[in-house]
Amino acid sequence: MIIVIKKDSDEKQLKRLIDWVKGLGLEVNLSHGDNSTLLGLVGDTSLVDTDLVRSVEIVEKVQRIQEPYKAANRKFHPQDTVIDVGGHLIGGNNFQLIAGPCSVESEEQIIGVAKAVKAAGATILRGGAFKPRTSPYAFQGLKGEGISLLLEAKRETGMPIITEIMSVRHLDMFEDVDIIQVGARNMQNFELLRELGRLRKPVFLKRGLANTVEEWLMSAEYIMSEGNTEVILCERGIRTFEPYTRNTLDLSAVPLVKEKTHLPVFVDPSHASGLSRLVSPLSLAAVGAGADGLIIEVHNDPEHALCDGAQSLRPEQFAELVKKIEVMLPLVGKKGEKQ
Ligand code: PEP
Ligand code: MN
Repeated sequence: MIIVIKKDSDEKQLKRLIDWVKGLGLEVNLSHGDNSTLLGLVGDTSLVDTDLVRSVEIVEKVQRIQEPYKAANRKFHPQDTVIDVGGHLIGGNNFQLIAGPCSVESEEQIIGVAKAVKAAGATILRGGAFKPRTSPYAFQGLKGEGISLLLEAKRETGMPIITEIMSVRHLDMFEDVDIIQVGARNMQNFELLRELGRLRKPVFLKRGLANTVEEWLMSAEYIMSEGNTEVILCERGIRTFEPYTRNTLDLSAVPLVKEKTHLPVFVDPSHASGLSRLVSPLSLAAVGAGADGLIIEVHNDPEHALCDGAQSLRPEQFAELVKKIEVMLPLVGKKGEKQ
């Protein structure tokens, strides 16, 4: 971290600042130039409150050199993290497809969709049991019963399952869930993140609606700092000024985040666009951008879906898309399970 000191600053105030920084256990390299004085801070600067330093009268600006995340940082862990979910590898040069309905609605629906997406090439089944809906009057999910139905679909098809957790109070119900999803709205629910960090189970961390890449990586850090290193990131679109799509898919985040972290990065083109006809082109673009996998909403009867029908593919549309993805994978040095 570099602190730039204002010109002609009071020496006593400078000494006080240096003593304070040293008191935090950091070394300070002082360099006096013609026009400015710089303090170079060496050591673990992750505990330094940059806003507090910036508020000191003699400080002109503060610049972090080191990122504030460590466990998630590729600098300290150059190899890609590869996570084994029921024999399906996530990360590295592997590519995985997660598919299923937005919400679990009935036994017939979840098992029917599970079989269809598996036949098309999906390896992991998604389905919401606890649904974070904007309106309290909208369908809130089948909750515990939804998880039981997902487990039944898992037994029927052999597919591992992923479902969203909304509260630490529900953790017991997630015992047999293979991947726990933290939705966009809970990306900064730090209490929940810490609790999931104490598990030994993969966590699928969606990017918040209006969160920066650094905030997203700091949320991954919350989970990892508690010991759970199996975190999968998911870009699902961010909120912008554009109303034609539900969100704006920030595809540049994919190669950028993969530069910054060793964790796998997925893309959710369904929530990003909100429109089923955009799901296929955005999926292919995500593969091109280097995503480690996709999570796609598929419903057997989108017109009557209890949630997110407008963005759901029919099983046959999903199957068509998978064929295109398989053609693209070798171009980006990835392999799906069929290759
Ligand atoms: C979901 O995947 O069902 C979901 C609610 O996604 P997000 O948290 O990205 O809105
Ligand atoms: Mn949804």
